[in-house]
Amino acid sequence: MIGGIELGGTKCIVAVANNPLDIIEKKVIPTRDPKSTISDIVSFFNNFKISSLGVGSFGPLVINSESDDYGLLVAESKKGWKGVNIVEELSNINSNIILDTDVNAAALGEYRYGAGKLSETLVYVTVGTGIGVGILLDGRPHIGNFHLEIGHMLIPNSDNFRGVCEIHDNCWEGLASGPSMQTRWGIEASKLSESHEAWVKEADLLAIGLVNIISNHSPDKIILGGGVMNQKHLFPILRLKVKEIWNSYTPLDSLSQLISEPGLEDNSGIVGSLSLTL
Ligand code: ADP
Ligand code: ZN
Repeated sequence: MIGGIELGGTKCIVAVANNPLDIIEKKVIPTRDPKSTISDIVSFFNNFKISSLGVGSFGPLVINSESDDYGLLVAESKKGWKGVNIVEELSNINSNIILDTDVNAAALGEYRYGAGKLSETLVYVTVGTGIGVGILLDGRPHIGNFHLEIGHMLIPNSDNFRGVCEIHDNCWEGLASGPSMQTRWGIEASKLSESHEAWVKEADLLAIGLVNIISNHSPDKIILGGGVMNQKHLFPILRLKVKEIWNSYTPLDSLSQLISEPGLEDNSGIVGSLSLTL
């Protein structure tokens, strides 16, 4: 039996499974302060005997397993969590922990079992509490020196909205994450009606980011998940905007092939975290 944890800014999903697609038990735990959140996670696993534990976590965090700081959250992206070492905190569950970013894990889930099968340059974007991006080149995460932070790329802020990222204001996450929608429109994103102007604005902001990613990585697949992307009506508007901005500069694959929903619905993260153990 294997274990998996998807550690998100709003919620954590914990699961045990025979294999990533054969989940035996799963639970959602709200993310609060580190102590009580981790204690709930540990109690879940007390009932099971697992051979290894895959963890996909929000960051920024040290994912280099050779480092003395393997597992350390290095910034206060979630209040109270800076300085917490995820690997240390979870070591009572199992000593064999494989850690990656939440988005690299989700990308891996989609690559192995979902909409990203055989993709050579796979981009997975989550639009949730934050915006995060994982990129797999032939199935292997593109890490760079620390890890990618594409959610914090700066993008034009035509109406001078004060973005919610405490570090950069007008980065992609600051302007287009779920909390930024709540701040901009004064109502939680999930409660905005489909005809609200918020969605056209959101598609605009997301499309700018996607065009930047296309320029940088020339992907053959971009999968968008996370809470905000539950609004499936965003997809067709988003594809149109990307087409418009890219302006036929180079040939793009069919936009509905290139930009797609997750094949694993909202399980990309937990399936990917479980598959880190394989
Ligand atoms: P996490 O970031 O913990 O992985 P989510 O991906 O669910 O969790 O992101 C939570 C954010 O997504 C919140 O800001 C919430 O307002 C937004 N959200 C969740 N569900 C929806 C929905 N159905 N429609 C629009 N926004 C949503
Ligand atoms: Zn930022």
